[in-house]
Amino acid sequence: MSRIAYVNGQYVPHADAAVHVEDRGYQFADGVYEVCEVWQGKIVDVPRHLERLGRSLSELRIDWPMARKAVEFVLHQVVRRNRVRNGLVYIQVTRGVSKRDHFFPPEHVAPSIVVTARSSNPKAAAAQAAEGIAVVSYPENRWPRVDIKTVALLPNVLAKQNAKEHGGKEAWYVDADGYVTEGGSTNAWIVTKDGVLVTRPAESGILRGITRTVVLDLIQKEGLTFEERPFSLEEAFDAKEAFVTAATSVVMPVIRLDGKLIGNGHPGSVATRLREVFHTATDLQAV
Ligand code: PLP
Repeated sequence: MSRIAYVNGQYVPHADAAVHVEDRGYQFADGVYEVCEVWQGKIVDVPRHLERLGRSLSELRIDWPMARKAVEFVLHQVVRRNRVRNGLVYIQVTRGVSKRDHFFPPEHVAPSIVVTARSSNPKAAAAQAAEGIAVVSYPENRWPRVDIKTVALLPNVLAKQNAKEHGGKEAWYVDADGYVTEGGSTNAWIVTKDGVLVTRPAESGILRGITRTVVLDLIQKEGLTFEERPFSLEEAFDAKEAFVTAATSVVMPVIRLDGKLIGNGHPGSVATRLREVFHTATDLQAV
């Protein structure tokens, strides 16, 4: 079956899906995006993702490309037309096509919207979670507005590539004070030796992950002890457990940091439990 993408009002074969060379997303990374998980034929947490998309758009003064309900409809259509049961749906909105100039377009141009979906293998993801991943630290070098989910991901690309070249699957940014901010495409968590879950507050230095918010709800439900505060790389080395959260990987145990084993070097019981019950705390929309 051939893949289908949605591009500015049309469903087109994925192989032919294209935006104009003067799209401001292409020229300036002048755009934002969202990624929702598709789990067992349902799209996960659409209202929260669209809420955050609206916030990102408004922070950059980009209009919604169409009504929010219409965006929601297209998400469902693209997942359905690609017959994705487990995988991801991606939405990108840019300021649109205009003669290359740093200033906003002088006249109103329609924002561009692209939606794609792709399947993933849940067995492979489960196997990865059973094994855990290695993480490699990296100096924080991003702009301060990482709360906006922009497509300007070059620092993240370089940090993650560095992780890969050092045997890791994710990078953990470390700020000038030695505190972990977040991953290249995930939020970062530890569980201390006393069993306290710790993650950085979303007020600065991180993207407020939707998966992070769901996990915070779960922590309450499960009656776990929790502190929202920055943690240092040193504290992470000494942790009982570590894990990352994102729509792309849900809750993924971290077993190695900069080559050193975390805890006993196996996925921890807290991360494993949170992964197991994760979808009980999400909003699931059937496709
Ligand atoms: N932090 C960064 C930098 C990200 O790119 C992402 C996801 O792409 C996350 C955190 C996790 O966000 P979410 O849970 O909404 O996928």
